[in-house]
Amino acid sequence: MDTDTIAASVESRREQLVELSRDIWKRPQPAFEETDAAERLIEVLADRGFEVEVGVGDVETAFVARYGEGDPVVGTMGEYDALPGLSQRVAAERDPVEEGAAGHGCGHNLFGVGSLGGALAVADAIDEGLEGTVVYAGTPAEEAGSGKMYMARAGAFDDVDALVSWHPGWYTAPTKGSCLAVDSFEVTVRGESAHAAAAPEAGRSALDGIQLLNTAVEYMREHVPDPVRLHYVITDGGGAANVVPPEATAEYLVRAPSRELVEEVSDWFRNAARGAALMADVDVEVTQTAGIYGVRPNEALGDAIRETMDDLGSFEVEDAAFAAELHDTLGDVSDAVAELPEDVRDRARDAAYFTEPIDALDAGITGSYSTDSGDVSQVVPLGRMTTATFPVGTPLHSWQAVAASGSTGVDGMCYAAKTIGGTLVRLLSDDDLRAEVVAEFEERGGAEGYEPAMPADADPYELFDVERRPLDVDLDGRVEAVNADD
Ligand SMILES: [Zn+2]
Repeated sequence: MDTDTIAASVESRREQLVELSRDIWKRPQPAFEETDAAERLIEVLADRGFEVEVGVGDVETAFVARYGEGDPVVGTMGEYDALPGLSQRVAAERDPVEEGAAGHGCGHNLFGVGSLGGALAVADAIDEGLEGTVVYAGTPAEEAGSGKMYMARAGAFDDVDALVSWHPGWYTAPTKGSCLAVDSFEVTVRGESAHAAAAPEAGRSALDGIQLLNTAVEYMREHVPDPVRLHYVITDGGGAANVVPPEATAEYLVRAPSRELVEEVSDWFRNAARGAALMADVDVEVTQTAGIYGVRPNEALGDAIRETMDDLGSFEVEDAAFAAELHDTLGDVSDAVAELPEDVRDRARDAAYFTEPIDALDAGITGSYSTDSGDVSQVVPLGRMTTATFPVGTPLHSWQAVAASGSTGVDGMCYAAKTIGGTLVRLLSDDDLRAEVVAEFEERGGAEGYEPAMPADADPYELFDVERRPLDVDLDGRVEAVNADD
């Protein structure tokens, strides 16, 4: 079973995949609300004969689908949540479908469907006689809430030997680096309201509590190790200047390369919150809303992904005219292009899309971003990559990324499907490769030390104030509900 066969298998479903990605794009749903997207993906998997478990880790929109029998077990992950406020048409100018509504600014409509295309192709290969099982993990709430943490904690990946996943981007390469672990906090301060001019002595300002805490965070910055990142926003600072605010809220992130360091700084932060409350004579409540690991890299999987990309070569973007128009709106992209290896920069600078596969840009590097794939990478070897779904230099979470995700991004999505499918088939058929991948995972610490950052009773629906809505899937008993307690 070679890469060409897998590529042909993806091509045979191209229309279905493109249409599905557009359907999900047209109904963007933010974290924990991505029910339609999950239902559509589950329907396709169940129709193809995958066994599906929904509600994994007690997250309604999390699911795991399996096809085949016995070992080895390999798989992929799909995300499908959208970003609040990023509504945008397929147009080469800023033009929301609905002002303030959500949009697919991180290309997760492509992400979920690209991985699906890969998993379906592996199922075809299993039908042709390849031994083993393929898993598609539907992983919701990446943009907020860290859905994968709940799934990893529930053991969703425990029987999987290796995973290959991807993310939309503007170049095509394996990802070999790590990134930062993070804790997220919501801080609520309660004081005493009063007329700010007539009776200030009767009031205790909740906003003062927040501001004193922020001052403490500024002083902390000087004395935390260099890669630590601290950031905050005030989400409610009161209503009117002539009223002492009785309540104020803010959000904080603590990032560092290791869980240990994140937890150390987070403890300090909690103490600072108590101190600020004492100074302002108010009450403070610190709620941790998420906590995740950085990614544990797997270079052997990165190399396997790169080899599959070499088999595939580069790819064409069908709607070249719109790609060029969209690319023009980005202006000067030379800073972004400077990230690329020198020998390809010139070719990338002038192209609307740069689709030739290149080596990982981040081998040995810890990027200053965070992803809930980190938790997955602590329990199973995880290979990652990027394919060019966006014009050269497109920032994630931009309106251009939304426009491309609903149009020209589908070519890079199908390429991702082929790369995932091709690499998973190699993992199933090549015992040496699998052994190498697992050996590297064990060398980097194995799965034993994984301790989820969030307490066992953490309910993301409560933490993120989202209504819990079970999926509406009618699969004739093919769906089996599970949760963390099972
Ligand atoms: Zn994303």
